Amino acid sequence: MADVGGASARTPEEVVDRAGRAADLADLDGAIASCRACPRLVAWREEVATVKRAAFRDQEYWARPVPGFGPPDARIGVLGLAPAAHGGNRTGRIFTGDRSGDVLFAALYRAGLANQPTSVSRDDGLRLAHTRVFAAVRCAPPGNQPTPTERDTCAPWLHREISLIKPTLSVVVALGGFAWAAFWPALRSVYGIPPPTPRPAFGHGVTWQAPESPALLGCYHVSQQNTFTGRLTPAMLDHIFARAKELAGLG
Ligand code: SF4
Repeated sequence: MADVGGASARTPEEVVDRAGRAADLADLDGAIASCRACPRLVAWREEVATVKRAAFRDQEYWARPVPGFGPPDARIGVLGLAPAAHGGNRTGRIFTGDRSGDVLFAALYRAGLANQPTSVSRDDGLRLAHTRVFAAVRCAPPGNQPTPTERDTCAPWLHREISLIKPTLSVVVALGGFAWAAFWPALRSVYGIPPPTPRPAFGHGVTWQAPESPALLGCYHVSQQNTFTGRLTPAMLDHIFARAKELAGLG
């Protein structure tokens, strides 16, 4: 996944420029994977890859930004916060190799949107149908908390990705409040639609839609904090993806 379109983006301005020039998803994915625009996150993703977690001591970590995953004609977008330090930052595929991904892809499989219920590595044969999974921030942040500057610096990658799948994109499932909030700048940037004021509050199962926009559908994040405590159950996820399919005309 080399960036054939130019050198690594190293500043917010270069992210804007390179994202804007991405001709298609493959080009965009390569440009994202070589980005170095956030010094704190570059240092963190590489440090995590050096220190590693004991269970993955023998593995070579990806240690780069993690592009989106799924077909270019996706009707459903699943928007997360950021890759996990020992998940996507290790495997190079979003939500792959961690407990959150186990829960998410099992649900997508039950919904008929994935060909298998597990997601362990980039070459595990997983394919998504009608669905693209991506994150608001593409590098693993310390404590899963990007700064506002990092969030804003990374946003043009997401906006270009949504722009490239805009012809088919019908619904964005926002996993958690951070992803929900990241939708509004994308709405303005990609669709030219001013976000509503005040912004609708995030909630599980809450939907919002403007006439010319994809629907936004809130879902509790698939984090262990939610799934281990029963705040988010498999049945609740099944309900969300059934609703997403309806909104996407796939129900
Ligand atoms: S978070 Fe986004 S903008 Fe920042 S270095 Fe990673 S890919 Fe680049």
